[in-house]
Amino acid sequence: MDYLAGLNEAQKAAVINTEGPTMVIAGAGSGKTRVLTFRIAHMLQKGVDPFNILSLTFTNKAAKEMKERISKIVGGNEARNLWMGTFHSIFARILRSEAEKLHYPSNFTIYDSADSKSLIKDILKQLGLDDKSYKPSLVLNRISSAKNNLISAQAYLNNVTIQSEDRQMGKPKIGEVYKLYEQRCFRAGAMDFDDLLFKTNILLRDFPEVLHKYQHRFKYILVDEYQDTNYSQYLIVKKLAAVNENICVVGDDAQSIYAFRGANIQNILNFEKDYPDLKTFKLEQNYRSTKNIVNAANSAIKNNKEQLDKEVWTANDEGTKIRVSHTLTDNEEGRMVANSIFETKLNNQARNEDFAILYRTNAQSRSMEEGLRKQDIPYKIYGGLSFYQRKEIKDLLAYCRLVINPSDEEAIKRVINYPTRGIGKTTIDRILFAASEQDTSLWNIIKQIKTTNVGVSAAVQNKVMDFAVMINNFSKMVDKLSAYDLASNIAQSTGILKEHFSDKTPEGIARYDNVQELLNGIKEFCEDKPEGDTSLRTLDLYMQDIALLTDIDNENEDDRDKVSLMTIHAAKGLEFPYVYLVGLEENLFPSQMSLNSRSDLEEERRLFYVAITRAEKQVNISYASSRYKWGNLISCEPSRFIEEIDEKYLEYDMPPQRVGKSSTGFGRTTEIENRPTPQAGKKTMIYTKKKQDPRPSATIIPPRKKMVKVTDNIPDDPSFTTLANNIEIGFRVQHLRFGKGEITALEGTPPNVKATILFDQIGEKQLLLKFAKLKII
Ligand code: ATP
Ligand code: MG
Repeated sequence: MDYLAGLNEAQKAAVINTEGPTMVIAGAGSGKTRVLTFRIAHMLQKGVDPFNILSLTFTNKAAKEMKERISKIVGGNEARNLWMGTFHSIFARILRSEAEKLHYPSNFTIYDSADSKSLIKDILKQLGLDDKSYKPSLVLNRISSAKNNLISAQAYLNNVTIQSEDRQMGKPKIGEVYKLYEQRCFRAGAMDFDDLLFKTNILLRDFPEVLHKYQHRFKYILVDEYQDTNYSQYLIVKKLAAVNENICVVGDDAQSIYAFRGANIQNILNFEKDYPDLKTFKLEQNYRSTKNIVNAANSAIKNNKEQLDKEVWTANDEGTKIRVSHTLTDNEEGRMVANSIFETKLNNQARNEDFAILYRTNAQSRSMEEGLRKQDIPYKIYGGLSFYQRKEIKDLLAYCRLVINPSDEEAIKRVINYPTRGIGKTTIDRILFAASEQDTSLWNIIKQIKTTNVGVSAAVQNKVMDFAVMINNFSKMVDKLSAYDLASNIAQSTGILKEHFSDKTPEGIARYDNVQELLNGIKEFCEDKPEGDTSLRTLDLYMQDIALLTDIDNENEDDRDKVSLMTIHAAKGLEFPYVYLVGLEENLFPSQMSLNSRSDLEEERRLFYVAITRAEKQVNISYASSRYKWGNLISCEPSRFIEEIDEKYLEYDMPPQRVGKSSTGFGRTTEIENRPTPQAGKKTMIYTKKKQDPRPSATIIPPRKKMVKVTDNIPDDPSFTTLANNIEIGFRVQHLRFGKGEITALEGTPPNVKATILFDQIGEKQLLLKFAKLKII
């Protein structure tokens, strides 16, 4: 039993006491997952049949790693026979073998969320309900949380409280939608994700012989990340463990980050009530991280009111302090992170796989990817495609390629009928055929479609010709317009933007956001060029700039030695020597949605705690002063979470060093007040956090006036509204903060009309009317 030597006393106790209900609630990095792994190994060593052990993990990858570890400890390949995986995968497997009891086929389909949403849309149409007020994602959320609380459609309709909630929301028909949804899924032989748990509960509730069978099969049940189980999962575990009561759960209340998906911290508290004989183990020693990291994380999580009492400590080295860096823009943040990884690798002989970049939202990966690619650092993205691999991005870039080189056949094939313009597959095949017959490019056939005998009708010829003319017109603009203006124009006039905009599913919204994000990147490219010289901002130069980014050539690469990019949610349970935690800005992290209630904010803080505690050696936190959103530069404030870390564990990096580049928004008009123009060559002091650390910056950045979004800090006065539609030059208006003034110019097209207003007190300002709250006087 050599392996027990690799455990401290508390861990050892938790490992060898394999019988009876057990709970390990302990801090991050204290060896909870290790205890589970060793406990299973120990049971196998004692002769427990692996078929009798059910172990539920948070990801299937974690299950795979755990099995490998166990195999190493016990030798042989018995570990293969463990029932180990996520709740969803294990119970889908059980449901398949018991499906007929629920009158489902054993090869039932599992609907993903896109399938579910499209079904909901269909049902809304059938019921004559407007999908603007009955947003499919909202309807699905209601159904999902009903299922996670084991409420069937009929029970939903009979439940007075739920019905009155729905009525209060102005959506009294959700129950009916749910009912039809249930029926349609059943008819299609399909289950959605929540059904996998819901139907398992029904199976165990309504078929005592089935319950009995699995209760006796699973003599030992173990659950990792118990803090993130929902009610439905809790009940399954409770039922299955009811006979043997050999149930061991491990978790950390400070890392509960899925309440938004129904995870319930009550499950930990219930556990004590359900099993009065419970053995509880406390693990307080962290083996993962340095003292600085552990202490910093402790000091941050202390700001939460709701948490179980525990003190995590470590015998590891002091380590370096948490580094806090500040950049002017998100793109610069990407470059800074990539440079820092490059340096750290050199200085510490570290490998790429030692690094993780963690962010709050997937869209933040773009600037990170750009930075990494420019530094030639290989990376992999978890949970979501690499930014440039996403379909919507490839589509728009295919247009850009075509505009620059109309002979680019792959680009033509990609977009000739996207968005759909009635050029069908047969037509495309005929064009392809003609091109190969005549040994010429597709483009040559396309632009001469009227005179070349391709074999398509006159109506189709016209459509192809329209496409050719459109591309031609764009091509003519390459030298005249900036890359940003042209790309935006393409996105708009091809209908790509409209298509994504009208898709209100979360996926559709994400696609729209991604296209906007690509445009933001192009805008940044343009503004990075010196003022005045427009020839450096053209689309062909941009495409050259990113050509290497889209040229993916990783077939022979070792997939393991790469920097990991992922959301913090996805990083749960993982560890990396070096962690970069980016976008630490108010309204991003903590997210804007979390600012309304203490419990949501506390969940964000737990997420922050999870992020910091992923690191073994070093944590780097960064934030940008500005970030593009919806094509506008938005000013950002550093996240409150940075301030919450005890000062003594922090170290501030050199302030941003850039000489008044236009990408900072100087001289541009957005909804942000213009910042003072920098005076090149002048040395100045930069004050970082709390003005404690004045350092001379190598170059110049003048002390900047805080950027203010004009809608910020305005007291609520309903007589001030956005006046985008009915305003004219010469009107006198009043702005809550800037006072009275006169409209002197209007430019742009709705909804982006920009007004120049000569304010009586403060002089001229340009405001975007869709944001500015004004009143005509
Ligand atoms: P999290 O809360 O992040 O899920 P955890 O409590 O599950 O963390 P583990 O991942 O099991 O912690 O352990 C953290 C790290 O510490 C791992 O690398 C693990 O191998 C190591 N570790 C844990 N206990 C010991 C020990 N007694 N001796 C040496 N290393 C240990
Ligand atoms: Mg763990």
